[in-house]
Amino acid sequence: MAAHAHRLDGIGSTIFAEMSALAARTGAVNLGQGFPDTDGPPAMLEAAVAALRGGRNQYPPGHGTPELVDAVVAHQRRHYGLELDRSQVVATTGATEAIAGALLGLVDPGDEVVVLEPYYDSYVAMIQIAGGVRRPVTLRAPDFRLDLDELAAAITERTRLILLNTPHNPTGAVLTRAELEGVAALAMEHDLVVVADEVYEHLTFGVEHVPLATLPGMFERTVTISSAGKSFSVTGWKIGWASGPAELVAAVEGAKNWLSFASGAPLQPAVALALNEHDEFHERLAADLRAQRDLLCSGLAELGMTVYRPDGTYFATTDVSAFGYDDGRAFCLALPERAGVVAIPSQVFYDDTEEGRHLVRWAFCKRPQVIEEGLARLAAVPLEA
Ligand code: PMP
Ligand code: GLN
Repeated sequence: MAAHAHRLDGIGSTIFAEMSALAARTGAVNLGQGFPDTDGPPAMLEAAVAALRGGRNQYPPGHGTPELVDAVVAHQRRHYGLELDRSQVVATTGATEAIAGALLGLVDPGDEVVVLEPYYDSYVAMIQIAGGVRRPVTLRAPDFRLDLDELAAAITERTRLILLNTPHNPTGAVLTRAELEGVAALAMEHDLVVVADEVYEHLTFGVEHVPLATLPGMFERTVTISSAGKSFSVTGWKIGWASGPAELVAAVEGAKNWLSFASGAPLQPAVALALNEHDEFHERLAADLRAQRDLLCSGLAELGMTVYRPDGTYFATTDVSAFGYDDGRAFCLALPERAGVVAIPSQVFYDDTEEGRHLVRWAFCKRPQVIEEGLARLAAVPLEA
């Protein structure tokens, strides 16, 4: 008897959990899983405590606590000039549930989903669980730019949606306005929905993040996803949201209602407060991350890796071919024992495993002293196979 349904065939556990467990077991410095090691705005934490003590502990509305929904509406207006109403936002259990809701709510079995490769691992799992077929379009080193001809070639008459991610995990690429205009033109030409995962919307370093939904004609066909985890450094709270036209948001919510229904009652008003009153937090966080990026990237380059310096996110990618391992996975599995550091092999984010074979992702959403400790450990031992 098979232990699981076929919809889970080939879907392992997430590489992030696997590598964090390895870090915990070996006492390694964890430059793998992307979570910050400093807290979000103190007023937000206090608001959560107050909500918890103030009786906000029963089911919130599945659609989202009104304060949070209103705060997302205000955020989209203030930052991007988008005018939404409450029916155009749904709160979710992290961006992860918004992604799941979008794919389950919008993709029929056999529908094709065009996705940027390297991809975030939950996309692959949820496309498969929804019965969809993924069509990756590869972002290639050194710049990880989006090739619009390759995107056009990936679209067929079975394509239902494009699953976009900018700023992009794991490469740190931030799609340019020209690239996004190309995506928009193709989406309109082929009448496609775009799910735009923009969880790193505030984490860019001197380049502009352009929300796809702000391009002419695109709001009507875009589901935009974000998360307090990234914007306010509370990844464990799992408060996310999707926004877009009411019919598309209703489809996300239609699936989400049967996943968690609702979650995070005392956390939702706290995130609402942060969204309304703590824009300055994003700027500080992005400035800190930029300095941490530079620290990490310079240190890794000194160790002999080819470093692809990112314009956004928590992550930098390096090529480790110089060290003679068969692939980045072998390098990453040896690293905790050898050097006491954990990183993520990017190969697992590719269908075209050759393309990602020697790429390794390092997280810099860690305090400078943690990054320095990681670099010192790497410098103290030979890294060759
Ligand atoms: N999308 C991307 C691109 C991510 O990197 C992550 C996780 N960090 C998520 C979605 C999931 O976000 P959440 O933790 O809010 O579920
Ligand atoms: N998004 C985080 C990363 O890319 C991890 C999320 C997770 O552990 N599922 O590292």
